[in-house]
Amino acid sequence: MIAEILSVGTELLMGQIANTDAQYISRRLAELGIAIYRHTTVGDNPARVKEALGEALSRSDIVITTGGLGPTEDDLTKEMVAEYFGLEMELHRPSLDAIIARMTATGHPMTENNRKQAFFPVGATILPNAVGTAPGCVVEADGKAVAVLPGPPHELKDMFEKQLSPWLAKRSGAHIESKFLRVFGIGESRLETMLKDLFHTDNPTLALYCGPGEVQARITAQAKDSETALSMIAPLEDEIRRRLGEHVYGEGVDNSIEKTAFTLLKQRGETVTFAESCTGGLLAARLVGVPGASEVLMESHVTYADAAKARVLGVDEGTLKEHTAVSEPVARQMAEGARRISGADWAVSTTGYAGPDGGADGTPVGTVYIAVAGRGGTVVKECHFRGQREYVRTLAASWGFNLLRLEMEKN
Ligand code: ATP
Ligand code: MG
Repeated sequence: MIAEILSVGTELLMGQIANTDAQYISRRLAELGIAIYRHTTVGDNPARVKEALGEALSRSDIVITTGGLGPTEDDLTKEMVAEYFGLEMELHRPSLDAIIARMTATGHPMTENNRKQAFFPVGATILPNAVGTAPGCVVEADGKAVAVLPGPPHELKDMFEKQLSPWLAKRSGAHIESKFLRVFGIGESRLETMLKDLFHTDNPTLALYCGPGEVQARITAQAKDSETALSMIAPLEDEIRRRLGEHVYGEGVDNSIEKTAFTLLKQRGETVTFAESCTGGLLAARLVGVPGASEVLMESHVTYADAAKARVLGVDEGTLKEHTAVSEPVARQMAEGARRISGADWAVSTTGYAGPDGGADGTPVGTVYIAVAGRGGTVVKECHFRGQREYVRTLAASWGFNLLRLEMEKN
């Protein structure tokens, strides 16, 4: 089964929003083992929507559209699908009742426009919307299928997971299981070399997805039932884990390095504190992004100026003068100071040159020292990141979490 995504929305074309819906769907289709060959984006223009739909259907078995399901004039995706297949629009009574109930519950007056959201191409399978007003649908004709999903990301995700994903699994007939291994601290090309001989099988398949500082390895198997598919994944997973060792920090598409650090802290009943310079609060912000962070995060200090490092964290002024703020001993003292003043079990510090300016003799932009202090002592890592300011800061924070989880695994 080959799929394509057709994103509808003038805001997308104008660059006002990023196409996160397409990213989400692509990721999920990959997990389901459905081949995805193209993304197309068009504005809210009837003729261009219809034309793009025709082109996509000429290449693919299923086209998934996003956006344009709302009540207003420019929301016309369903209508264009109907026109393309030469189908009338008909009222779907249960959808109208659901829309009326939702409008009543939220205190919004029902308008004539909202009725439009209960009309679908004749014969469509309706996909109820549990978190928004507009239902989606799947229209099947001429051996092809078009799935019409809403634009707002939380509605799209909910509908994809609860409605479309089971439909796709049934239609593809096979039981497809995927496992994502999260790998930190090995670049994509080195990883590819290390796993080179494992890419050549058709079932299970192995694929790599790269993010900043990390790679996800996806193993997917198809079989007559889920159990068999999982049993085909296991030996490949074992082999990958054996080769990559501690670089594998977790599993799952929704995992992250901060979530892994959080889970370890929680399991151990321990706390962490941060002393941040170049990351400017990113470590704290990312940990706080994990629900339940209050159980493990004690406090965080953004000490940007040398004076603050000395005053708040007790970094020795002589050390700052002699080695500069971006140095191994200062990173060490920042972490140890933060641990001391907070009473937390662990402290993570960052100090570096995020760029684009800065850097000192022998210490180029992208140099970041990251320290982790714990009961058993302090480790400091010297990193050299190459990239823009935001990228350097993101990687520095990720490495902070990675070093922390490695230290926890060791001690
Ligand atoms: P609504 O009922 O809100 O009008 P809709 O299904 O008609 O929903 P759109 O009008 O196309 O969808 O988009 C609504 C909002 O959803 C956009 O303003 C944008 O914030 C978000 N959105 C739409 N498409 C995407 C996309 N591809 N990726 C991320 N966000 C999107
Ligand atoms: Mg809309």
